Amino acid sequence: MIAVALGTAAAAQMGQAPVVVDAPAAGAQAPGTVVGPLEIYFIDTEGGQSVLLVSPAIGMYGTRETFLIDPGNLNPPGRDAERIIAALKDAGVPERIDHMIVSHYHGDHVGGAAALADKVTIRRVYDPGAVTPELNGNRESGFMAYLPVRNILPVSVPKAGQKIPVAGLDVTVVSVAGELLKTPLNGVRRSANSQCNNPMRQIQDNTPNNAESIGVVVEFGKFRYLDLADLTWNQEIELVCPNNLLGQVQLYRTTRHGAQWSGSPALVHSVQPRVAVMNNNPTKGGVALTFKTVKSSPGLEDLWQLHWSENPGAQNSAENMVANFTKDDPGHFIRVTARNDGSMTVKNGRNGFTKEYSASRAPVVTSSR
Ligand SMILES: [Zn+2]
Repeated sequence: MIAVALGTAAAAQMGQAPVVVDAPAAGAQAPGTVVGPLEIYFIDTEGGQSVLLVSPAIGMYGTRETFLIDPGNLNPPGRDAERIIAALKDAGVPERIDHMIVSHYHGDHVGGAAALADKVTIRRVYDPGAVTPELNGNRESGFMAYLPVRNILPVSVPKAGQKIPVAGLDVTVVSVAGELLKTPLNGVRRSANSQCNNPMRQIQDNTPNNAESIGVVVEFGKFRYLDLADLTWNQEIELVCPNNLLGQVQLYRTTRHGAQWSGSPALVHSVQPRVAVMNNNPTKGGVALTFKTVKSSPGLEDLWQLHWSENPGAQNSAENMVANFTKDDPGHFIRVTARNDGSMTVKNGRNGFTKEYSASRAPVVTSSR
């Protein structure tokens, strides 16, 4: 590193010594410079959540930035941290997390935070703030492990509509702590949504933390990704009815692992993803209803799965689009390489199978049937 003086003239005027800071190494590119595509790793946490985004642009530290949506499960200790580090290595970026969302406080999302913080620097955390006790030991053990980490890391509690400043990306929080986006995202036209003719609603299971999930839309030019963590079915409807505030997306991670409590047809068929990725395990998530909803969505080209689903009625995709088959697998990822023209390449970390999705999507035929 080369130390240089910044603000010399101003400092001299004030009669002070110039401020000396570390400058980027010679040849480094300026913050904001786009140097590649957006990489999105869907990391297998055996039914939890961990999605690593590597920014297309250089950040303040002179490298591409890393943005992690959830650090995965608490147990077995350190497993999911190792899988996140393996993804950082695969991407060829420093082993550091610049931005981390803790979407909510269930153990399959927050549980891996302490082990990850032991191994890598985490620069900024976004979480929903106050916890709603659920009096369920399994769900709360992950949160209890996170609390000491939360006390020492810089944590922000965003509002719906707020941006998370990842280099080269436009990341908008669309849900947090039960609060939902109220106005359309930039560039989304407010118009009546034909998916909203009496959409089926649900009586939710008793898991209030899910309703507090931080959800985001990530935009890189024409490419858009929707990740609502474990937000509930009825809240999903609020985001698209009576007006679709989210617009359409290229990529959608099936809400709540593809379980029956999320993934309402009104949401999925409104945002019309071209590609969906399911973060299930052999029996958690990945229910027949979710397969049916996603595979009948207008414009859907493929559903990729972190796991083969053993649930009755599961319409599993072709084996090349499934990353893992058993509970004791080594945790293969699915990687999406997204470009700002809206095109994508999806890769199966198990066998290297890749598929291209061109910039122009096939015309979407909408039907109310
Ligand atoms: Zn979950």
